[in-house]
Amino acid sequence: MKTAIRRFAMILAVIAAGIAAFAAYMLNTYEVAAVDPSWALGGSADIPDGAVSVRYTGTATLVFSDGETTWMTDGWFTRPRPLQIAFGEIEPDMAAIDLGLARNKVERAAAVFPLHSHYDHAMDSPEVARRTGAILLGSESTANIGRGWGLPESQIRVVQDREAIQLGKFTITAIESKHFQFPDPYVHERALGDPEITQPLVPPVSAFGYKVGIAYVLHVAHPRGTALVVGTAGFAEGKLEGFDSDVVFLGIGGLGSQTEDYRESFWRETIGYAKPKRVVLIHWDSLTGPIEGPFTGPVRAASFLSEGTDRTLEFLKQKEAANPQLQFMTLPRYDPVLLY
Ligand SMILES: [Zn+2]
Repeated sequence: MKTAIRRFAMILAVIAAGIAAFAAYMLNTYEVAAVDPSWALGGSADIPDGAVSVRYTGTATLVFSDGETTWMTDGWFTRPRPLQIAFGEIEPDMAAIDLGLARNKVERAAAVFPLHSHYDHAMDSPEVARRTGAILLGSESTANIGRGWGLPESQIRVVQDREAIQLGKFTITAIESKHFQFPDPYVHERALGDPEITQPLVPPVSAFGYKVGIAYVLHVAHPRGTALVVGTAGFAEGKLEGFDSDVVFLGIGGLGSQTEDYRESFWRETIGYAKPKRVVLIHWDSLTGPIEGPFTGPVRAASFLSEGTDRTLEFLKQKEAANPQLQFMTLPRYDPVLLY
C-alpha cells in the first residue's frame, strides 16, 4: 500500500515538474519574428545637418529628429512579464525608462504621442513627458493616463481628428483610425470593449485598465519628406485617402491571426492610399522581451494562443514580390537611421 502511494506521489511530482517546465518554456522563450532578416537595416553612419532621422526601440516606439526638434511615438520601455499582464498589475519601470531614453539619446523632446492608450503604447509616456519636458498628445484616455501620473495639465493636450500639430518643422496630423480587431472574442471584449479611460488612471493597475482610447494614424510632414505611422494593424475605411507618404511605418502585430480578407483590406487601406516607396515594419517584436539585445518574435505562450506568425511573413513576402518598387525594411534597435 505504502509503495503504491509513494509511486503515485512520484508520478504526480513528475507530472507537476513537466507542467512547470512546459510553462517556463512557453513563458520565457520566443517565436522567430515574422520579418525577413534580409530587411534589417543597420544604423546610418552619417546623418547630415537638417536631415530627419528615426530611432526604434521595439513595438511602436519611434524617435524622430531633425537635429532641431525631437519627438516620439509611445515612448514605451517597460516590459511587464507575461504572467503580470495576464493576472497581475503593471506600472512603469523607471530603470527601463532611464535606459530607453539614454539609449535613444533623448534628453529633451517636444512631444510624446501614444498611438493609442493600451499599456504597450501609453503606459510610460507621462513619465517620458515628465523627464523630457514633452507635451503628451492623444485622446482623452491618454490624457487620463497622464493625469493619473500627476503630469500637469500644461503638458497634456487632447488632439482632434485630423488636427495638424506643429512641432518645429514637423507637421503631425492625427487621423482617428481603428485598432487591430482581435479575432478571439474574449480578448476582443477585454481589450476593445468599453474603450475609454474616463478617470485619471493611477498605476499599478491591471494591463486591461489601459483601455484603447482612440487609435491614431499619424501623418508626419517635414520639408525633407513625409511619413505615415500606423501603430496597430487596424484600419477605418477611406480614412487615409489623400495622405500620400514617402515612408510608411506599418504595425503588423497579429496580422497572421486574421483572415486573408482582413489582411488585404488592411494593406489596401494603408499602403494602397499612402503609395510609399519604403515600408518600415513595426510592432512585430516581443511585448515581454528585454529592450536590449536582439529583437525576438512574440513569447511562445502568446503565439500559442493566437497563432499565425508564419502567415504574417508569408503575406508580406507575397506583397514584396507583387510590389518590386516598394522597399521593405526593419530598423535596428536605438541606432539612428537616416529617413530623408
Ligand atoms: Zn493595442
